[in-house]
Amino acid sequence: MINKKQIIIPPRIIKNICEFAKSLHPKEFSCLVSGKLSERALTITGLVYQHFVSDSSSSVLWDNVPILSNIIGSVHSHPDENALPSVADKRAWSKEGGIHIIICYPYKKENIAVYNSQGKQLESASL
Ligand SMILES: [Zn+2]
Repeated sequence: MINKKQIIIPPRIIKNICEFAKSLHPKEFSCLVSGKLSERALTITGLVYQHFVSDSSSSVLWDNVPILSNIIGSVHSHPDENALPSVADKRAWSKEGGIHIIICYPYKKENIAVYNSQGKQLESASL
């Protein structure tokens, strides 16, 4: 159902994602995203930070994810120039559902890609 909707990422959220990814480079940054579903679109409304452990090759979310009904997926960075999901990403996403955003180095707007839980890239727009 999400696959047919337009994904909208507001400019301020794009800016936050780019800045956080940059500030943690060469480590990965990772957080959850909240969103609002309407008839035609899924709009990302915020980033939900939580504690995580991170090194240059992986980031592991802790288990104590806040129970928030509007969490619709996740975002994480890749310190290399590849925004494609890894095998581990796809495995985790298939359990989590939702949509997942990857931003890769050099962390500009055009380095952001959005995927569904099967790892298929979705079209997104910034409004
Ligand atoms: Zn990844």
